[in-house]
Amino acid sequence: MNLSIAKTKEISENLENSSTLNWITCSNCGGNGYMKTSPNCYHTCLPCLGRGLVEDDR
Ligand SMILES: [Zn+2]
Repeated sequence: MNLSIAKTKEISENLENSSTLNWITCSNCGGNGYMKTSPNCYHTCLPCLGRGLVEDDR
């Protein structure tokens, strides 16, 4: 039980360490994280996986 908490903490720390990468607003969805395909239909933006941000590889 405590182990899983520690693991989660470790992962979040790793994510913070990776924040040195440049994250830019996803140009595909404009930062919304989803695409509007019709007035009543949305789907998750695949390039950014619904985060609205993508890594800038350059
Ligand atoms: Zn996107």
